[in-house]
Amino acid sequence: ARAQIGVTGLAVMGRNLARNFARHGYTVAVHNRSYAKTESLIAEAGSEGDFVPSESMADFVASLERPRKVVVMVKAGAATDAVIDELVPLLEEGDIVVDAGNAHFPDTIRREKALAAKGLHFVGTGVSGGEEGALNGPSIMPGGTRESYQSLGPILEDISAKVDGVPCCTYVGPDGAGHFVKMVHNGIEYADMQLIAEAYDLLKQGLGASAQEIGEIFAQWNTGDLESFLIEITADVLQHVDAETGKAFVDVVLDQAEQKGTGRWTVQNGLDLGVPITGIAEATFARALSGSVPQREAGRAALPADAAAWDVQDRDAFVEDVRLALYASKVVAYSQGFDQIAAASAEYGWDIDRGAMARIWRGGCIIRARFLNRITEAYERDAHLPLLLADEYFTGAVSNGLAAWRRVVSQAALNGVPTPAFSSSLAYYDGVRAERLPAALIQAQRDFFGAHTYRRVDKPGVFHTEWSGDRTESDA
Ligand code: NDP
Repeated sequence: ARAQIGVTGLAVMGRNLARNFARHGYTVAVHNRSYAKTESLIAEAGSEGDFVPSESMADFVASLERPRKVVVMVKAGAATDAVIDELVPLLEEGDIVVDAGNAHFPDTIRREKALAAKGLHFVGTGVSGGEEGALNGPSIMPGGTRESYQSLGPILEDISAKVDGVPCCTYVGPDGAGHFVKMVHNGIEYADMQLIAEAYDLLKQGLGASAQEIGEIFAQWNTGDLESFLIEITADVLQHVDAETGKAFVDVVLDQAEQKGTGRWTVQNGLDLGVPITGIAEATFARALSGSVPQREAGRAALPADAAAWDVQDRDAFVEDVRLALYASKVVAYSQGFDQIAAASAEYGWDIDRGAMARIWRGGCIIRARFLNRITEAYERDAHLPLLLADEYFTGAVSNGLAAWRRVVSQAALNGVPTPAFSSSLAYYDGVRAERLPAALIQAQRDFFGAHTYRRVDKPGVFHTEWSGDRTESDA
């Protein structure tokens, strides 16, 4: 037994993670259900480092130093359970199983419990950055026991992306915490992508600008506060020309967005915890609307716009308005996502350091951005910040763009351009800052039809009014 770490599951992600370990000087045991993938890894990348290939799971496990560290990188769901079931009887107390696939966090909680009962560590780990990240440095979000992180953490930190020399990997929290944080990362990614898409649509419809021109605007934006991987690739995509037709590539792509499910999980959990992650929800629903083909056909045929025609007087001012509105909406989406992490941390007993999460998302992952430094700084100022949006830096940044944000959202409504994420972010902003909300009326209605009771502004206690009788109020 001489391998320091093992990887089972050698499709694109596992293969690249294994190469990443090897390139960092680790001896890597490699295994895949079908041996052909193991052979092709050795044939194509075997010279990059020290690999120990095995055809059987038993040989693979036997090739690992104790305590064994096995990274499972297979299809999430039943495949992960199948691999764990095969692996567990071969392992010994103190060994560490790392699930680096995109597991749903309740599955991770279940698996961690089952393996802990057998004296094994189970580390549900979020990995972001796609295949490129896996090879050259992903953002890594490991959960599980702190004890497991002592020996596993340094290896994962070694292969993670680095920003200013700081690894994009840190211990997240017990059992499902790592996969939870990865899920929210993906949810935020949905919101960020939708906001960028809305900004593109506003520039397209407001200015009648070409994809090429809008790509140039995004490239310009990428030199300022908005600098991020997603803005950068947007600029690139918009300027790409389809080889077959000579048209802008984006104009030949069918406008029906697909999803693999992490956005949906994030929204479902937001509903479970009662956290208003409206940006992520609108982004997820916007994808669903885009794919609602029969509804869109019926709507296109029957629904009038009755909207004004865009009349943008000052092109540069409009572009700047959209930029400011995008930034403000983005702050809201992230603020909501970090709220969800805080709520889950309290609910599931994870004690997640939100500033550290922003720090490990600065590199390697899809939402990597300059702006994440600001989030880390905000949580350094106050680790228990109740609302990211209310941190002094973000309050300043958003209020600076507030008038622009309102102009953009109202213009979009007047001109019939759908901006669900921009609009709902502004509605959230106005809701969360409101002195008084119409929720008072909702409470009154609930008490009227269901005797659900209400509290009063002027005295403590819970009350009910006899709505169908003499309307006296009683303590409930
Ligand atoms: P896939 O999700 O396509 O999974 C293919 C791998 O799973 C193969 O190694 C396959 O083995 C193995 N597998 C499937 N079913 C079983 C089974 N019943 N028993 C044993 N092995 C099985 O591979 P990816 O590399 O794309 O992704 C791996 C994981 O990483 C997934 O959980 C994914 O969600 C996650 N992920 C992917 C990212 C990406 O950008 N692709 C980014 C971040 C995470 P065989 O070769 O024998 O069929």
